[in-house]
Amino acid sequence: MKQTHYRNCNLCEAICGLEIQTENDSIKSIKADDKNPLSRGHICPKAFALKDLHEDPDRLQHPVRKTDNGWQKISWKEALDEVASKLCSIQEMYGQNAVGIYLGNPNVHNLGSMSIMPVLIKSIKTKNKFSATSVDQLPHQFAAHFMFGHHFMIPIPDIDRTNYMLILGANPLVSNGSLMTVPDVRNRLNKIMNNGGKVVVIDPRKTETAKIASEHCFIQPGTDVYLLLSILYQIINVHGVSPGRLEEFTIGLDELDSIVKPYSPESTAHITGINAENVKKIAADLCNAEAAVCYGRIGVCTQEFGGLSHWLINVINIVTGNFDREGGAMFTTPAVDILQPPSSKGHFDLWRSRVKNLPEFGSEFPAVTIADEITTEGDGQIRAMMTIAGNPVLSVPNGGKLDSALKSLDFMVSIDFYINETTKHADIILPPLHNLYSSHYDLIFHVLAVRNTAQYAKPIFKKPDDTKFDWEIYLDLAKRISKKRKRPLNKMMYYMSRLFGTEWIIKAGLKRGSSSLSFKALLKNPHGVDLGPLRPSLPERLFTSDKKIHLLPDILVKDLTRVHETMSERTISKLTLIGRRQLRSNNSWMHNCASLMSGRDRFNVLMNKEDAEKRQIQDGQHVRVSSPDFHIDLPVKISDEMMPGVISIPHGWGHNSDGIQLSTASKYPGGNLNNLANGEKIDMLTGTADVHIRNIEITLL
Ligand code: SF4
Repeated sequence: MKQTHYRNCNLCEAICGLEIQTENDSIKSIKADDKNPLSRGHICPKAFALKDLHEDPDRLQHPVRKTDNGWQKISWKEALDEVASKLCSIQEMYGQNAVGIYLGNPNVHNLGSMSIMPVLIKSIKTKNKFSATSVDQLPHQFAAHFMFGHHFMIPIPDIDRTNYMLILGANPLVSNGSLMTVPDVRNRLNKIMNNGGKVVVIDPRKTETAKIASEHCFIQPGTDVYLLLSILYQIINVHGVSPGRLEEFTIGLDELDSIVKPYSPESTAHITGINAENVKKIAADLCNAEAAVCYGRIGVCTQEFGGLSHWLINVINIVTGNFDREGGAMFTTPAVDILQPPSSKGHFDLWRSRVKNLPEFGSEFPAVTIADEITTEGDGQIRAMMTIAGNPVLSVPNGGKLDSALKSLDFMVSIDFYINETTKHADIILPPLHNLYSSHYDLIFHVLAVRNTAQYAKPIFKKPDDTKFDWEIYLDLAKRISKKRKRPLNKMMYYMSRLFGTEWIIKAGLKRGSSSLSFKALLKNPHGVDLGPLRPSLPERLFTSDKKIHLLPDILVKDLTRVHETMSERTISKLTLIGRRQLRSNNSWMHNCASLMSGRDRFNVLMNKEDAEKRQIQDGQHVRVSSPDFHIDLPVKISDEMMPGVISIPHGWGHNSDGIQLSTASKYPGGNLNNLANGEKIDMLTGTADVHIRNIEITLL
């Protein structure tokens, strides 16, 4: 039977509306949904790959166990019993922290994981929990936690109504927005400029976004904190602090002066590579534009001062009067508001990791320390791992160390539908059905979107016999583990989900949310419901106990000492390596989707002409890129996109055909950029990995 379905794409943060035509169990076409109120007909090539994913022979559909003769199919009962029994006996023998958990990024794109996985996590009750957060957005959450009282209260640029947008370390034309869900971003940025406004990009690479922007400035990688302090210096000393109505409920405005004193634009120019005049112009534009917003993303996160930089971005938006107002940085008022109780407001440093004494954030330790916790003997050593929808061997610095560490475990289970560089170490793999089999409501990215919208979709395909949804796997395991370990099971979540799937969670969420949207209205509007532009919501929406914005949290102000102490000794590295994201790639997965992998090999190192000439390297020649820890061999693409002294390699590659099933990726494997970093360098404040690799060597092959 032919049918047409509408739903959000769940592959990236943009949550584009899709129109999917099916006939029985197959996908006939995937198009953009022109009537989706957020994406307005936008789509990217990854959406078409949902068909590849659906048809992918590599995708597991039943549990498998690793044996001497390869992977063997086993029954769900046998697999779940064995996993529960192994995890429980390891915890009984070595303590509850002997089981570690890693959660990959795709979990936040699936309703089942977002809503029901916590039942499983609570049943395991380990402190050794890790996720992709600490190689990604942790600094945003850290700043939000200390300034606004909730680790998920992340300000979103009101891109549709701003006149000036300053973008640092982000490439929304390729990411389609991140912590700023913004499908159709090209048109939205063009609209700012066509209306007489400006878009300014600061990045060590002239990215796809920088190429269409009004202006672009190169910056030395990892020096954003100095630039932001200088912008703030200029605002305070020349333009004045004017937070508007926020003044009434913002603490710390009077003390800003002393904080920025050492960072005049002249004093930081040699560090950032951005001259003082440019910094002054940026500060003036931020203050004088009718509405302006400063936004930073991954390049500002995964560095030595990620936490400080995101705090300063918020401070700049606040003191220029561009916070919680149209065209500035605003908060969403989502139909299902995951910030409200029972969700946690977050916490920091309630306990520390065993080996490196790193603080937890939101119950997680930095992912760079998973291998240490597995290989360092002693009480609390991780003896078993559970990974859920993640491939940390490719996505965490020093994946090689983690790769060897995983081999030493007593037991490993992966909840994943692929055998990849990480899950190949599992003893048992439990594969959930992919997203198109499930009902879908994006719990996270409606909260991070540039417009308030809501969309619910029923499953597209009927659940095949002998398969499980992700949330069924979580409940099945949680029940077994809770029983064996005599731990309380969240009975309400368990029985309601068993009876009503994930739908009841959306209904309950809508009832608690601030809009009057009903579940019936969602069902009646398959293209999604438009709830309007972002609205001022402070101070009511603040989660701080005094309902005030804390502009200068002690922990952040104290961390400025690190910036100051290293300021005089900062030297420019001979060659610094940065990563980059590609439109036809989805971090470390989907590299076996034929529609995405067609065309030229795009795994190359971008290098400025000047740097290439110094080393007598011609375009297309193969080179070895080496850090003290690892090397990758790949072709050079000479490009003036790159700042002199900076090179770039795409992340997410490095597929190793040894023991895994990735039919397409095995012929297009690339190398693992993250192996060039040793994992020792982190933002000491937040625990986020610093992935900028300095003093890289290049040799011609
Ligand atoms: S931009 Fe993201 S959400 Fe939109 S179609 Fe592409 S992958 Fe899907």
